[in-house]
Amino acid sequence: MTDRKAELADNLARVEERISTACDKAGRKRADVTLIVVTKTYPASDVRLLAELGVRHVAENRDQDAAPKAAECSDLSLNWHFVGQLQTNKVRSVVNYADVVQSVDRVKLVTALSKEAVRAGRELGCLIQVGLDAESGDNEGRLGRRGGVAPAGVDALADAIADAEGLRLGGLMTVAPLAGPYAGHPRAAFERLMEISSGLRGNHPAANMVSAGMSADLDDAVAAGATHVRVGTAVLGVRPRLG
Ligand SMILES: *Cc1c(COP(=O)(O)O)cnc(C)c1O
Repeated sequence: MTDRKAELADNLARVEERISTACDKAGRKRADVTLIVVTKTYPASDVRLLAELGVRHVAENRDQDAAPKAAECSDLSLNWHFVGQLQTNKVRSVVNYADVVQSVDRVKLVTALSKEAVRAGRELGCLIQVGLDAESGDNEGRLGRRGGVAPAGVDALADAIADAEGLRLGGLMTVAPLAGPYAGHPRAAFERLMEISSGLRGNHPAANMVSAGMSADLDDAVAAGATHVRVGTAVLGVRPRLG
């Protein structure tokens, strides 16, 4: 085994231990939580090693980096998640490799994703990114900072996705906020997300994915009920540059 593969194996084992412990404490089954490894800024060779180590889900946040990486790794049958802010002019490219877009935050993006998914003959999973840094946003319910739609905007966006051809409403995603009432309280933020998820499932029972938790707070996310955690640094190391 190469040094890098051994390092990744070691880090994965540590993350696995954290997820299992958090599941045990919460009385949840380990199988109910999916690990997504966020490979942004790391090379395709690392994605390949992760696949050899059993990782099935990877995430990226920039199309410029993700598109060539996904192409290089297309033989691995991985599930690719897109988790970054997405401009409509990048949608055509993203739809070619992404299985799930976790950062859907506006109706205009839904329209573009639907058009390109239909064009590509693919069904694309969509998660609504919820911004918990404020409980209200502008007209469309959008927020600045770490992105996402305000909680009040979730229902309308969910209906738009559910009605759009080529898209499947998977559920919700959030990033623990750095501002507002939940700053420094990731557990409370994730519990609020679970509450919003319950409301969503009232109208869209199949939209049961809850993507929350990163390297620093995945334990809180599992405790709150997240079905998917997105872990970068704890598996791959501190990123060489901002991403
Ligand atoms: C980078 C990123 C992650 C992973 O963050 P780490 O702290 O490195 O685990 C998770 N989610 C999103 C949306 C990201 O951009």
